[in-house]
Amino acid sequence: MPKQNGNRIRSIGYAANSAHSKLKPFSFERRPLGPKDVLIDILYCGICHSDIHSARSEWRGSMYPVVPGHEIVGKVANTGSSVRKFKAGDIVGVGCMVGSCGRCASCKAGHEYDCAEGGPTWTYGSEERRIGGHTYGGYSNNIVVDQDFVLRIPKNVDLAATAPLMCAGTTTYTPLRYWKAGPGQTVGVLGLGGLGHVAVKIARSMGAKVIVLTSSKGKVRDALRLGADEALLTSNRAQMRKYMNSFNLIIDTVSADHDLNGLLQLLKPDGKMVLVGLPSNPLKIDAFSLVNGHKVLAGSGLGGIKETQEMLDYCARRMIAADIELIPIQKVNQAYDRIVKGDVKYRFVIDMKSLQKSR
Ligand code: NAP
Ligand code: ZN
Repeated sequence: MPKQNGNRIRSIGYAANSAHSKLKPFSFERRPLGPKDVLIDILYCGICHSDIHSARSEWRGSMYPVVPGHEIVGKVANTGSSVRKFKAGDIVGVGCMVGSCGRCASCKAGHEYDCAEGGPTWTYGSEERRIGGHTYGGYSNNIVVDQDFVLRIPKNVDLAATAPLMCAGTTTYTPLRYWKAGPGQTVGVLGLGGLGHVAVKIARSMGAKVIVLTSSKGKVRDALRLGADEALLTSNRAQMRKYMNSFNLIIDTVSADHDLNGLLQLLKPDGKMVLVGLPSNPLKIDAFSLVNGHKVLAGSGLGGIKETQEMLDYCARRMIAADIELIPIQKVNQAYDRIVKGDVKYRFVIDMKSLQKSR
């Protein structure tokens, strides 16, 4: 049981103190366990590219210190007096959200990410409404979360490889379901990183033909190993021309600036390009790229809590998890640099046992 100050829960983790500083050990407090709260000892936390965007304030306005991490798997340590869904010892997950109003139409529809009261409470970098300050994420030894935002991790799964599903899984499952990826559909996955490689596995399991579009020559063969039917190098103009008018749906997971207009030509008439990647600069669209062929440019974020549970159960049944490199937390800054260079196959996951060495 962690030490308590008053009733607050003491935590240790890694934080960035400014957009240009490295992540370093950081001690902080979490709110006392409320009646509906679950205290979770964190076992594993994936490193999403959003963590890097946030730690480096690439989307501007990050609240420091930033303790990133929203791909959390852990064990329930304690529960508040009215918690009925979980008990000590349960293996659970926490994704990008830890709260929402619960009353608005979006929350009632299971779309907590669109909560009308200013959006949900994000796992890190949102106002911590009960004790002030802001929320801290999963690069830490523990977390306190409302039971309604805690997910049940299915039995017999690899816990470290399942952690990335808490964000990469839900963010790719949701648009693939929404836009009806399935037999007879050709689905492109643009960018073979953390999100992209999970998208390949899920789209394949749904029965779609899957074609990876990558900017990295070294990933072409890997894409096939991961289950793609084909893989194209986006810098190869002749190949790209050959695939014009071929895709029903493209999931764009790219984290940096890129030109969408050429890529939109790959869609069939009525095809859909769905942005899930969040580059920090605006993308430029030529209206003709959409008007010709009645194409749809859409966006998609993570799934709601109910859909995230559905995704976890779906992936467990089909033995879908991330391909991971497990690291101690002391290597987090190197991991960030390697992700930005595209040098990870395909998700770093922090083994939180290593945090003991930073005490
Ligand atoms: P990641 O592991 O770094 O993968 C991004 C991939 O984009 C890279 O592997 C690379 O794939 C491609 N890429 C990177 N730089 C590029 C460039 N300059 N030009 C072309 N391609 C480039 O990142 P991730 O964790 O999957 O996250 C991807 C993006 O999704 C991030 O912006 C993240 O913030 C965002 N995200 C959004 C949501 C949401 O709710 N919508 C949730 C999670 C993450 P290739 O080497 O194959 O080209
Ligand atoms: Zn994420």
